[in-house]
Amino acid sequence: MLDTTLPSELRALKGVGPKVEQALNRLGLFSLRDLLFHLPARYEDRTTLVNIADSKPGLLQLFQGEITSQTTIPGRRMQAVLTFEDVSGAARIRLFHFSRAYLATLKAASSVRVFGEPRVYQGVTEFIHPEISVFKSEPPPLDDTLTPIYPNTEGLSQPKIRAIVQQALNKGPDFFSLEELLDQDYTKHQPTLWKALTAVHQPSRNLPATAFIERLAFEELLAHRLLLLTRREDYTRLKSPQLKTIKNHNRSMITKALPFDLTNAQSTVIREIDGDLTRGHPMLRLLQGDVGSGKTLVAALSALPVIEAGFQVALMAPTELLSEQHASQFSEWFSPLDISVGWLTGSMKIRPRRAILEHLANGKCQMVIGTHALFQDEIYFHRLGLVIVDEQHRFGVAQRLLLREKGQNLTPHQLIMTATPIPRTLAMTHFADLDISVIDELPPGRTPVDTRILNQSRATEITDRLDTQFDEGGQAYWVCTLIEETEQSVSEAAESRVEKLKQQLPHRRIGLVHGRMKTDEKSEIMTAFASGALDLLVATTVIEVGVNVPNANIMVIENPERLGLAQLHQLRGRVGRGARVSFCILLAGDSISQQSRERLSLLKNTNDGFELAEADLRLRGPGDVTGTRQTGELSFKVADLSQHAHLLDQIASLSETIRLNHGETRDQLIERWIGHEEHFVNV
Ligand code: ADP
Ligand code: MG
Repeated sequence: MLDTTLPSELRALKGVGPKVEQALNRLGLFSLRDLLFHLPARYEDRTTLVNIADSKPGLLQLFQGEITSQTTIPGRRMQAVLTFEDVSGAARIRLFHFSRAYLATLKAASSVRVFGEPRVYQGVTEFIHPEISVFKSEPPPLDDTLTPIYPNTEGLSQPKIRAIVQQALNKGPDFFSLEELLDQDYTKHQPTLWKALTAVHQPSRNLPATAFIERLAFEELLAHRLLLLTRREDYTRLKSPQLKTIKNHNRSMITKALPFDLTNAQSTVIREIDGDLTRGHPMLRLLQGDVGSGKTLVAALSALPVIEAGFQVALMAPTELLSEQHASQFSEWFSPLDISVGWLTGSMKIRPRRAILEHLANGKCQMVIGTHALFQDEIYFHRLGLVIVDEQHRFGVAQRLLLREKGQNLTPHQLIMTATPIPRTLAMTHFADLDISVIDELPPGRTPVDTRILNQSRATEITDRLDTQFDEGGQAYWVCTLIEETEQSVSEAAESRVEKLKQQLPHRRIGLVHGRMKTDEKSEIMTAFASGALDLLVATTVIEVGVNVPNANIMVIENPERLGLAQLHQLRGRVGRGARVSFCILLAGDSISQQSRERLSLLKNTNDGFELAEADLRLRGPGDVTGTRQTGELSFKVADLSQHAHLLDQIASLSETIRLNHGETRDQLIERWIGHEEHFVNV
């Protein structure tokens, strides 16, 4: 822990008072060394002037000229509109925050420099709130290097943080004793760490050379991997329920009653899980299988031996809807075996809730299914042996750790199931603390979903098509997506869509399900749809995950361009579960960009979730795929998986050597690159 009574290293720097120090701490910066490893997120180029006539829309560029006119436009929000001219032409500048005094300063200026991202609006080049520097006389010479832009926080301006980092750099390499921690083999032909660090903090006119970035990325990726491997090692020291043998009797009771055989992939995965359960330390396994690959059954068959050994199993689903579906599926499988199945969600009435809590605490309930309500503080398990998390799209480290708290002196095993494919690069970096199993085949007899992109103007044609399908006994989902960011507006959109569809298809049975409905209402509608009592189900993305109605064979998705590919693939996975030919119709809005259209056509061209995840990773970055963008967890400073994947093999083997033989090096690397972030992950 840090000793806060000592004056910190940071306070000794020029310009660092208590406020600034706090701001630095918020960025995870506590020492001079931390500053050294606080790397620029990007660079800005203020080394060259661009003519207004040659400006490129959407790029940050530097211009120099004069403000030749200004007017203010009253309105809900007062605007100032300036004309900015240089030798080549003119542009408009719009300001929304300004004072009279500021406008006067602009008027008095002999010249200005404008740094901003122009756009072309109604044929005119314009800037919205660019950065403007005002000069009364001859402007100073231009910068002769790129400007590093640091991740910052409130209370710290860019110039301020640059000046602070610069002071750390001025201490020189000896101050930091940055002995090269890496194996000679690797560093022999590489720039030294100091060289690489100074190159990124103090770039020239050009971006730092690849060799410098790679030198840093290598160490950073290595440090992250070492942290995860260490965590995994810690995990193996914990005790968990150890099954002496795996009994197969009950399993075969279930599988014999099924109208199909397990796929080879399912059997393999179950063997892998059995192996984990018979060791004395907790399983931490990620099971990846594309939508429809049969993960639920694997969950059930994994739960059985744990229950037979006298432990409880909890299955957590991300939505109430899915948890209910699982509860009824598990009851169907387990009740004949005299295994008691319970269901727990957040919206449950007091009395049934109290009953289930009691049964969890005294062990009467052997298999419980629920939402994250299962892991609230006031819930006690008698002997929790296995936690299964279904349809996990978000893999926060904190979540992984949360679940292990519920097992008292034994840490429960954990099985995390996801349809989100894990590209190798992520498996080797973000998920290096997990074992990974993959169900790499779909059950036989599935027909691939035929995906079409249609314009919204063709909605009527689609209702005709639906009508025909209903005649043939099919069923359909109609999904309304977020138009604005609130749950309310999407529910309303769904409601008005239902009204329209009821007018267009008056003879059809149409239901509605959305997030603002009560649990009972939702499940009533879902049951009706599953039993075939409804032809068409209009829904929000509450049905995105896990819902299984094999007879449904058409899915219409409105505004699909608003969703990520992985999410669309999930949604589409609700159809194509039976023998009927299935369709997914992407109803694209009128104004979708060429880029969105291309993204959607990826979906049209492949049913392979793995390919789609790789594309998402490429187009949207790992933060979206792993769900860690929001939390900022495990985000890299320099490493970029799309550029540095080729380093990963070497990192993997080196990390093994370091972990086994060089504990001190390991700790230093982690401290250097991840430092204080690690403390908060471990709490
Ligand atoms: P997911 O992996 O998306 O969770 P589910 O577990 O919901 O998939 O399974 C999808 C459908 O496939 C279910 O109707 C299930 O009964 C069926 N299923 C599971 N395993 C097999 C199999 N080996 N052969 C045929 N159908 C299977
Ligand atoms: Mg599922």
